Amino acid sequence: MKAILLNKTDDGLLSKLTEISESDLMDGDVTIKVEYSTLNYKDGLAITGRAPVVRHWPMVPGIDFSGEVLDSTHDDWQTGDRVILNGWGVGEVHWGGLAEKARVNGDWLIRLPENMTARQAMAVGTAGYTAMLCIIKLQQHGITPDMGDILVTGASGGVGSIATRILSNLGYSVIGSTKPGKESEHVKSLGAKETVDRAELAERGKPLAKERWIGAVDCVGSHTLANICAGLQYGGIVAACGLAQGMDLPATVAPFILRGITLAGVDSVYAPRHDRESAWTQIAEHLDVAALEANTREINLDDAIKTAENLMNDQLIGRVVVAMK
Ligand code: NDP
Repeated sequence: MKAILLNKTDDGLLSKLTEISESDLMDGDVTIKVEYSTLNYKDGLAITGRAPVVRHWPMVPGIDFSGEVLDSTHDDWQTGDRVILNGWGVGEVHWGGLAEKARVNGDWLIRLPENMTARQAMAVGTAGYTAMLCIIKLQQHGITPDMGDILVTGASGGVGSIATRILSNLGYSVIGSTKPGKESEHVKSLGAKETVDRAELAERGKPLAKERWIGAVDCVGSHTLANICAGLQYGGIVAACGLAQGMDLPATVAPFILRGITLAGVDSVYAPRHDRESAWTQIAEHLDVAALEANTREINLDDAIKTAENLMNDQLIGRVVVAMK
């Protein structure tokens, strides 16, 4: 079967499309015929070797997949069940979704929502599931649409674009932080009422700024996250999930101790099963997956390495699914 395989060599990382056999797959109690995978930021980092995401060699990348159970000795899963996998170290320490088959621990799988196809689930992917986890943080904090604007950073990217779609569908007023031009137009087409040039948030700012948003979903980190905190309204919250600008957080405590704001971290990889199921249920309810799918580009495994490079070079708009055909 075909797979993308990453190998460490004396000359650096070698990423290639190759043939592997089912017996090569790592241990697990469920074997899945992968129908679709996707390309997330983390997959881009792994495939291009830009960050040490992979911690076991060789590695089949792909932190997500959806498909059908072929064999199972796990109590919860039978042959023919339709499943999704997001995270759990798959594509990092356990062989992942950019292959025609995968074998994993059945505890990591969740059921594909009934009204969703495998292709639609991968158009959502970890990006969309993480966006929903972030929105749930805002909701749990009591943020309702009447309270003010919600800022979404990296709004044309995977997490940001789906966060923008879902928040808009839920009636929130969304401000998207993105690049001016075609990205800004795209973000508005997803439902954002306005956009801000991401450059405005990218440099060191004041400890406290004008109160502009009651909530935020941040995919970017670094100065951007510090400026989000400085611009949160009294009692507001930012759900921080990403580091597209940087891993640092050059902030002050001023907005925390003078405006009572909250910084909530979001991790999708090891989120408990209950949180995952709740996120996917809400995605099925509040995201127009057909509209998302219409805006999704399909590639096959042969194109995955090149497309991952484009993702890392900030040259992709919209979601990509990888079909195992
Ligand atoms: P994408 O590459 O699809 O999107 C990232 C977006 O960030 C880009 O589209 C761009 O949006 C913006 N961006 C890129 N570079 C910069 C920069 N230097 N400064 C400011 N903005 C920048 O990635 P994903 O949406 O898949 O992931 C977003 C982030 O979230 C990543 O850091 C990823 O690692 C993280 N993540 C974390 C998860 C978790 O479990 N915590 C799960 C999934 C993702 P624009 O042009 O609109 O500004």
